[in-house]
Amino acid sequence: VAESGEGAWENARIEPYGPIAMDPAASVLHYGQEIFEGLKAYRHGDGSVWTFRPEANAARLNASARRLALPELPEELFLESLSRLVAVDRDWVPSGDGESLYLRPFMIATEAFLGVRPAREVSYRVIASPAGNYFGGELKPVSIWLSTKYARAGRGGTGEAKCGGNYAASLIAQMEGEANGCKQVLFLDEFNDNAVEELGGMNVFFVFKDGRLVTPALSGTILHGITRDSVLQLGRDRGLTVEERKITLDEWRDGVASGDITEVFACGTAAVITPVGELKSETETIGSPEAAAGEVTMSIRRELLGIQTGAVEDSRGWLTRLA
Ligand code: PMP
Repeated sequence: VAESGEGAWENARIEPYGPIAMDPAASVLHYGQEIFEGLKAYRHGDGSVWTFRPEANAARLNASARRLALPELPEELFLESLSRLVAVDRDWVPSGDGESLYLRPFMIATEAFLGVRPAREVSYRVIASPAGNYFGGELKPVSIWLSTKYARAGRGGTGEAKCGGNYAASLIAQMEGEANGCKQVLFLDEFNDNAVEELGGMNVFFVFKDGRLVTPALSGTILHGITRDSVLQLGRDRGLTVEERKITLDEWRDGVASGDITEVFACGTAAVITPVGELKSETETIGSPEAAAGEVTMSIRRELLGIQTGAVEDSRGWLTRLA
């Protein structure tokens, strides 16, 4: 925990997990001035505990802070908050296959007032929680629901920020997807030729037959996924032609039908990389739930997860030791 008053962060401390007291007029409760991050800490074979590219999470937290008119947090304080917490919670870091300690840094506006303006009192906290294997051991291609009624974010909005409001806006589409047997929802930009944006909590990639790896460009409405950025680097390093560009629903449909698109996968901190089986909407289905997990998808997944868990050498300096 740390607090910011007149621009300076102070009183950094570890507190036991428990409820926090807040004034009913705390501005986060009314105007949603809130941002967060998500990272995983993995226990390596020798017992040490490491996390993946935390500097990127610090940078993204600060980009979100600027957009939500919250104070920035110095990178050193962000990194210190993770290592101090994990030092205390060391014994809670699991060591099973795919298991991790999930870390959830967040910042909320705590100042009490009932007018619309940026709060001057802000609290930063980190929660740690052991997390099981996202797939319960079995990796199966996911079915995705195509949200045609609801947008996640608009241009100039907060889509690029990792703030609670974006997720609140996506819940109704998520519910619709679940009612149709899908765990994830795809959002499109209907004002831009139905350009593919991202899933509720993951970025999306397409593998083409000719060796191209394509993902939607960061257009201002999608989250700058750290897994996305890492996959782009891994793809380049293995000689794939990497393209960040606009890709429309039509191109997805036609590419799958013609065989030009051979694999689709989604990526994010929680699932790392998951193959996409089918995309479903009220009117059509693209792909198939029985689609096999593709070779490129699985090979990138093995390398990335291997680096994170210490099984593959970290030649890019992506890991930071926490304990
Ligand atoms: N998009 C959204 C909307 C997300 O919530 C997430 C998860 N943070 C991602 C993409 C993937 O980002 P990352 O790889 O940094 O976890």
